[in-house]
Amino acid sequence: MTQPILDVLHDTFGFSAFRGVQDQVVSRVMAGRNTLAIMPTGAGKSLCYQLPAVALDGCCVVISPLIALMHDQLRAATALGIRAASLTSVDADWQETQDRFRAGELDLLYVAPERASSEGFRNLLGRAPIAMFAIDEAHCVSEWGHDFRPDYRLLKPLLDSFPDRPRLALTATADAHTREDILKQLGIDREGMIVAGFDRPNIRYAVHPRDGLTRQIADLVGGNPGPGIVYAQTRAGTEKLAEQLSRDGKRQVRAYHAGMPPEVRRANQDAFIASEDMVMCATVAFGMGIDKPDVRFVVHAGLPKSIEGYYQESGRAGRDGEPAEAHLFWGADDFARARMRISEIEPERQAGERARISALGALVETGTCRRAILLRHFGESPPETCGNCDNCLSPPASVDATQTARKLLSAVYRTGQSFGIGHLEAVLRGQSNDKVTQRGHDKLSVFGIVQDDEVALLKPVARALLLRDALDTNEHGGLMLGPGARAILRDEVQLSLVLPPKRARRGKRGAGD
Ligand code: ADP
Ligand code: ZN
Repeated sequence: MTQPILDVLHDTFGFSAFRGVQDQVVSRVMAGRNTLAIMPTGAGKSLCYQLPAVALDGCCVVISPLIALMHDQLRAATALGIRAASLTSVDADWQETQDRFRAGELDLLYVAPERASSEGFRNLLGRAPIAMFAIDEAHCVSEWGHDFRPDYRLLKPLLDSFPDRPRLALTATADAHTREDILKQLGIDREGMIVAGFDRPNIRYAVHPRDGLTRQIADLVGGNPGPGIVYAQTRAGTEKLAEQLSRDGKRQVRAYHAGMPPEVRRANQDAFIASEDMVMCATVAFGMGIDKPDVRFVVHAGLPKSIEGYYQESGRAGRDGEPAEAHLFWGADDFARARMRISEIEPERQAGERARISALGALVETGTCRRAILLRHFGESPPETCGNCDNCLSPPASVDATQTARKLLSAVYRTGQSFGIGHLEAVLRGQSNDKVTQRGHDKLSVFGIVQDDEVALLKPVARALLLRDALDTNEHGGLMLGPGARAILRDEVQLSLVLPPKRARRGKRGAGD
């Protein structure tokens, strides 16, 4: 790397060295070569185009899919003294921005893809000095990616009309299919692909079955003094959790979701960025594009949408490289809901969605290294153990739960496939409560067939059976037999269960289950 570049790195960005593949990416771009950079969240993608934008003559045109993201980037760049502007539907200073652009007074110009491909913008580009193009969130160009944006498909002709200006595509998430697609759709040679390692060794991963969720999260938050994010699954969930977690008054807790008034949202986000100990209860949109390197923990209160999503969201912890934690809480009902959602989408998308869910199932159910599962998902070949996830730190025991599973499935069948796990548990352990006797379930052959030491297995078994399609739920949460039940009932398939290490119980259970 040449000295002038290192000077810009130091003087403009305040960094003493490049991180990871940044130097490779910047070198290629500075040499005028088309590049696809696949770098995990937190790896420092913005620098890869912002630095060349400052160092090169002319302007770097940045195509970015979200106005909020653009404006965050813009603020950050402007704060560093970089001459940056955006042309979006909410910008009032179009004329001024266009004048500055034409006069060569901009280092960075952010535009949305639909604007970039317009005739008017193309004319504007013809009359301004262009240094390079950066295509952010480049996976949007691919139908394989998880957020396809048709406008990204119109970019290639534009890029091709500036053949001597390098294009740099950036993304955090791209499986093999998506990578191929990006290269093709944006006209970048395979040798121009630079993939950074996905491992975030400073993040400790842990996965827990939900069991008194509010208490579980409160315990976690209580033991982690730094700033943290708790992802809830719904907007209402963020506010409820924030209220519950702030009840003891020990921590500053706020909520963030897209349904809040913009000024409240902005204020909460700013407070979080400035804070050294705040807990933010948010929907997953929170954290995208915000630069807070010292987030110490990220908690998912429920199942994420995909491994990619989980990786990206948990990756918002520990960007500073210091130790950080990622906790995921899940329950069988997450999978039931996901399956329900899948049954409602177009048939041709169902297989892909099912694959996403079963990848998540493998992650949460495994007794082996979580990091290894994540990294393998991104095509890496990690070691079998990492030493920094729950399973590596205290390897769980596994038990053969086939007999318990058969008992539970029989109870589901004999009670008419419409009761929840609580009632089934009562029947199986032989509790003659009102509901049990009124329905005559104390007369069934399955009444009282589960021994005391087996009772604790019932909920984990139910979760495992749901995950394996041996159980299903009706719209009221009642359990029904699924297609996978038969093989277990006939003893053709064994069910081995990973048991989490016993967790010390503190106080009463929370209400948030
Ligand atoms: P990404 O877009 O890949 O998620 P960002 O561009 O937001 O990542 O950068 C993540 C964090 O890393 C930011 O806090 C940024 O300031 C910091 N960062 C980027 N490059 C470097 C570097 N070379 N040295 C130190 N910190 C860096
Ligand atoms: Zn591990």
